[in-house]
Amino acid sequence: MDFQQSDRMKKLPPYLFIEMDRKKKAAIEKGVDIISLAIGDPDLATPDFIVEALYKGAKDKANHQYPLGPGLPKFREAVAKWYQHRFGVTLDPKDEVVALIGSKEGIGHLPIGVLNPGDVCLMPSPGYPVYHAGTLFAGAESYFMPLTEKNGFLPDLDAISADVLKRAKLIWTNSPNNPTSVLMDKAFYTKVVAFAQKNNLIVANDAAYTELYYDGKKPVSFLEVPGAKEIGVEFHSLSKTFNMTGWRVGFAVGNKSIIKALADVKGNLDSGVFNPIQYAGIAALEAPDSVSENIRKIYQERRDLFAAGLKKLGWQFQIPQAAFYFWIKVPNGMSSADWCGKVLEEAGIVVTPGNGFGAEGEGYFRMTITVDKARLEEALQRLAKLK
Ligand SMILES: *Cc1c(COP(=O)(O)O)cnc(C)c1O
Repeated sequence: MDFQQSDRMKKLPPYLFIEMDRKKKAAIEKGVDIISLAIGDPDLATPDFIVEALYKGAKDKANHQYPLGPGLPKFREAVAKWYQHRFGVTLDPKDEVVALIGSKEGIGHLPIGVLNPGDVCLMPSPGYPVYHAGTLFAGAESYFMPLTEKNGFLPDLDAISADVLKRAKLIWTNSPNNPTSVLMDKAFYTKVVAFAQKNNLIVANDAAYTELYYDGKKPVSFLEVPGAKEIGVEFHSLSKTFNMTGWRVGFAVGNKSIIKALADVKGNLDSGVFNPIQYAGIAALEAPDSVSENIRKIYQERRDLFAAGLKKLGWQFQIPQAAFYFWIKVPNGMSSADWCGKVLEEAGIVVTPGNGFGAEGEGYFRMTITVDKARLEEALQRLAKLK
């Protein structure tokens, strides 16, 4: 059969991680001892008590049917309690919380619920590629807000023209940020809320990394700002906080009309998160803070070690404030793609070219500290030998 993929699919940039994975596999086939610092996927195991909760749930035949709806009431209550405990934000579990099959799923689907063809969606560049993909699938247009060193890697809201703003309906923000690891503080979120109110925008903040922070400096929630819940939602994930990337469970919270739009899209396309996985999610959300503290401790040691090593190489980067990414300027003026090819060939290290996160990422590359300290040391030794 001869067919062409849809025009929408053809508009997509190549999905970065698949491309990197292909290159990595080719090198492994050649027998290279590859260190992968490319993908944001924790190497650590899901804590045992979470696995136990899944097991217990799976043994109960009441859980074997379609889960349906916006998530188990108990799951949504656990989310609301966690938000209260962690951020001091009050949520109504009835209509201000929806369970997601990983936050990526919800991020991809939200635009279908709120955007029309011709609408503009504002999003960061570099940025998580799903904001753009979801916007394209909704038939809407992406407008990229450059994250540059000059602006401290925060979007410059004042630089967006009135023309664009007239057609804009949704703005994505992402803090703690992937790929830059920069944080938005309450003052910045306050600006975002005022900007959205003035321009009649929906705000969607992607907050997948709020629990992976350093030096004891806790990131805030967008919803802590007065007025935020009137115009916005926040996406959250258990993936990075509890080493649960493979489980596919996350949630969106905030404005109930926006949550309903997302839940309505999902109601037509999927049938919810497997109940035992939601029970595992409840166990994670109700866990004592020491669980995420122990995970943070591991990343803190890795971050400190890696930052010190990269400094010695004389490379230019900001020390990550949260998340597990180093966003680094290509040291020798090469293109991002050529530089990453060189690092793979000469050092056997897979890193991610910055332009994969959008045009503004050109000239940068990203390294992830999702390997143990011994492997990070080995990576630093190899990088020091690059010609
Ligand atoms: C990992 C990640 C997500 C999605 O994680 P899920 O596993 O789908 O919950 C969302 N946003 C950013 C910025 C991420 O890096």
